[in-house]
Amino acid sequence: MSIIQGSASADAIALEEKHGAHNYHPLPVVLNKGEGVYVWDVEGKKYYDFLSAYSAVNQGHCHPKIVGAMVNQAQTLTLTSRAFYNDMLGKFEKFATETFNYDKLLPMNTGAEAVETALKLCRKWAYEVKGIPENEAEIIVCENNFHGRTTTIISFSNDPVARKNFGPYTSGFIKIEYDNLVALEAALENNKNVAGFLVEPIQGEAGVYVPSEGYLAAAKALCKKHNVLFIADEVQTGIARTGRLLATCGNCTCADKNCSGTPEVKADILILGKALSGGSYPVSGVLANNDIMNVITPGNHGSTFGGNPVAAAIGIAALEVVRDEKLAENAQVLGELFREELGKFIETSDLVTLVRGKGLLNAIIINDTEDSSTAWDICMALKENGLLAKPTHGNIIRFAPPLVMTKEQLLECVAIITKTLSEFKK
Ligand SMILES: *Cc1c(COP(=O)(O)O)cnc(C)c1O
Repeated sequence: MSIIQGSASADAIALEEKHGAHNYHPLPVVLNKGEGVYVWDVEGKKYYDFLSAYSAVNQGHCHPKIVGAMVNQAQTLTLTSRAFYNDMLGKFEKFATETFNYDKLLPMNTGAEAVETALKLCRKWAYEVKGIPENEAEIIVCENNFHGRTTTIISFSNDPVARKNFGPYTSGFIKIEYDNLVALEAALENNKNVAGFLVEPIQGEAGVYVPSEGYLAAAKALCKKHNVLFIADEVQTGIARTGRLLATCGNCTCADKNCSGTPEVKADILILGKALSGGSYPVSGVLANNDIMNVITPGNHGSTFGGNPVAAAIGIAALEVVRDEKLAENAQVLGELFREELGKFIETSDLVTLVRGKGLLNAIIINDTEDSSTAWDICMALKENGLLAKPTHGNIIRFAPPLVMTKEQLLECVAIITKTLSEFKK
């Protein structure tokens, strides 16, 4: 391993090891600077960031416009709580609802909180609008989902590591296979108290599983037929990552400022987080129209920091950057190039079996068992060669660079990846 004993990296890792809870297993690299598509470690080595903090840093590290908005607002007013109004939140709500074409936004901080918000909203709608008997609402979710880490969310996860010994679990969820319309239809028909269907348009954490063409539109139609809310968790897929403003957008180019999902797939409840701040601050939120969002009344839900003026200023700047720098279009073009180039390499490789994804959310599948360390070892070799990525689920490596990348930079990255893979020996 390249971490030299007594080095700044080794010291930083030892500090965390000793004083921090061991709830992550990071790649042994200690970063202290980021700019655009690059990050630097404490020894001054420069890397391409191919994780983008799980797609939070879509706008690139330390984007000057986002940092500017943050600093400016931080010097003016940071927090009022929602006990009082502040002069930034309404502006953010207006901008976000116009960008995504919904009546209302409910602002929170983390992705998991936004998912919790969506679940509460869906349940309340079910009792008060749909007329499901109290405490009997069910929400359909998918196997191998990732929606965050709260007690309720891990209750319907099927990742044993995320779940075991955290019970008792929250009830009211029905789990079905992802990308399976027959299973969805059966679940809707066999359960009379279904309130919502919560789905990731692409399963990111599970290994970038892209569902079959037409799956989301058909799932939305089934939900509509059964008066069930279609809830899209776009915390990872949203905000230009997959070559569209949202992954629930159709094959448009997002040039239309009202682009917010094709009518066939537009979510009843849309969950956003991560890149909603460009990775500079925790900003998340749930969007819905009045017929749904108006079931929430004062005291039902809230957060001390949710919708604070700094978050609001950042949220506006982050969405403006996506629009002004045409990040969806860039992700679309570069994503196609990336899969094409890696596809060529894979034809000649025994180590990698597949590249898949959409826009700049992609993954390669390593030809080894899920419990092997091969994907991890490849990520270590990529790190040596100046590119940071992380395995997800054993033998899968996700590649998700910031969307501000240029074509030249992407081709340089493809060269690093293919060289590393060709030289790699188990
Ligand atoms: C990251 C993620 C979350 C959780 O977001 P946090 O900010 O980590 O709580 C929820 N859903 C999806 C799809 C995610 O990728």
